[in-house]
Amino acid sequence: MTLTESIVQRAQAVFTPNYRQAPVVLVRGRGSRVWDAEGREYLDAIAGIATCALGHCHPALVETIERQARELWHVSNLFYNPCAVELCEALVKSTSFARRVFLCNSGAESNEAMLKLARKYQADLGHPERNEIVACHNSFHGRTMFALAATGQPKYHHGFEPLVPGVRHVPFGDAGALEAALTDTTAAFLVEPIQGEAGVFPAPAGYLAAARELTREKGALLCFDEVQVGMGRTGKMWGHEWDGVAPDMMSAAKALANGYPMGALLASEEVGRHLTPGSHASTFGGNALGAAVALRSLQLIQEALPDAVRVGARLTARLGALSAGGRVVEVRGRGLLLGVVVKGIDAAAVVGLAREGGLLCNAIGDSVVRLAPALTLTDAEADEAVEKLGAAIAAAPER
Ligand SMILES: *Cc1c(COP(=O)(O)O)cnc(C)c1O
Repeated sequence: MTLTESIVQRAQAVFTPNYRQAPVVLVRGRGSRVWDAEGREYLDAIAGIATCALGHCHPALVETIERQARELWHVSNLFYNPCAVELCEALVKSTSFARRVFLCNSGAESNEAMLKLARKYQADLGHPERNEIVACHNSFHGRTMFALAATGQPKYHHGFEPLVPGVRHVPFGDAGALEAALTDTTAAFLVEPIQGEAGVFPAPAGYLAAARELTREKGALLCFDEVQVGMGRTGKMWGHEWDGVAPDMMSAAKALANGYPMGALLASEEVGRHLTPGSHASTFGGNALGAAVALRSLQLIQEALPDAVRVGARLTARLGALSAGGRVVEVRGRGLLLGVVVKGIDAAAVVGLAREGGLLCNAIGDSVVRLAPALTLTDAEADEAVEKLGAAIAAAPER
């Protein structure tokens, strides 16, 4: 038995069986490369599902986490720590609208806080009847109960009913449907600037601007889920910057601390001040270790953006030129969040073949291969990813 086989067998004996994991055990990473337990090297074009935006084991982040680990890890929110303060200042500065930040540990938690605060804000304003959340079909917002209820994919709901009441869904990208759904009982509209888990669908031009207008008219809050598209993923720090539209609240996580668990809810002054003492909390939220890593990540991502834009354009263009006998029908996305849409072959088969060829990516549904590599991907690595993906697409059996 190989080391990989033995670890996989032990994992399957003790893990709850909720993940479909590839039979690969990763033991080491550096930049956009990872190595498995058998010593095989891979080009990582999924980067922890859009989390390791600066690549694996970035030397400056290793330095930061080592230094902070010797200084202070965690003291709870009974006390202040300077790392959390600096991080929140930097996050506020990175947006046009946010003045207040709540720190937590994951995407679901940041969305949970955002949805709770939407209700709290309306209730504090004397409108407890304004408690409905409007979200989009095919959206993904996480697995805690309120975030799950907001997630517009019934397959994730099965077995977990009753869901949190007061959530309704509208078709993504349809401003008319949104207008019809916003009423005197709507607390907030929650939307991803690009639907990631649905298969990488950018919001149509003008949709977020229309959502801004409509929510303002109806007295509802506009909430963006930037968990996947934030932190430079699209070539700007925040995905909504492409649309020139500012929300009232926004959630962030995934790449926030480059793979160390961190989440954040960013809010305007008017909304954020309603998360009053005792109303919400997180034991680990804003822990010094995570905050130090997140702060450094934010600075490094800012520096990495110009190169990420260039390499993203190169990757998109070369993937677009991959006709592969009509098997690639579309390349969607923005920056370094890309969905390669295949036809006549199974996306999961492509991903399996790519992995055997030394490229890591993931499949969404039957027909989308998602690439979300590090923003520090080099031109040569981008070309290698296209070559390896092209070979996998060509080798995939017809469906
Ligand atoms: C990944 C993701 C989440 C959930 O984040 P977790 O850290 O897994 O809780 C929420 N929203 C979006 C858009 C995501 O991509």
